[in-house]
Amino acid sequence: MAIRNIREVGDSVLTKVSKEIKVADRKLMVLIDDMLDTMYEASGVGLAAPQVGVLKRLVVIDVSEEGDEPIILINPVILETDGEQTGDEGCLSVPGKIGTVTRPNYVKVKALNENMEEFIIEGTELLARALCHEIDHLDGLLYVDKTIGELRNTFTTEEVQ
Ligand code: ZN
Repeated sequence: MAIRNIREVGDSVLTKVSKEIKVADRKLMVLIDDMLDTMYEASGVGLAAPQVGVLKRLVVIDVSEEGDEPIILINPVILETDGEQTGDEGCLSVPGKIGTVTRPNYVKVKALNENMEEFIIEGTELLARALCHEIDHLDGLLYVDKTIGELRNTFTTEEVQ
């Protein structure tokens, strides 16, 4: 178990395109475990490998209630999208900020699991948003470039006081 350092906006690693994963070796398993630890420690609902400085196409997501298994996606590809949702989004690499982003309300994604077996996952609402946001990271894209209007601080003046 290890918490990795989360790269923040301005770090060039976040704007690079990540590489496909060819083998699920011990190093990859350690990376997956560390990314889960790092995501939970930071109270995030998703984390992509470039956010911990590793340019590999790997994403972890947990938008579920406590006790459910997290979703691990290796080399994820969006196959289909449908509908639209507009709502607030944040990112562990852009601490203290939120912004409004329009995303598909439904996505169908193909990916590999830890055993390099292909699976399909469908998501709506928050899961669809998380899938789009995290897969964007693998292509060097940040939500801050897609926001409608200005980024806002997550704390209101009242909460800060
Ligand atoms: Zn993010």
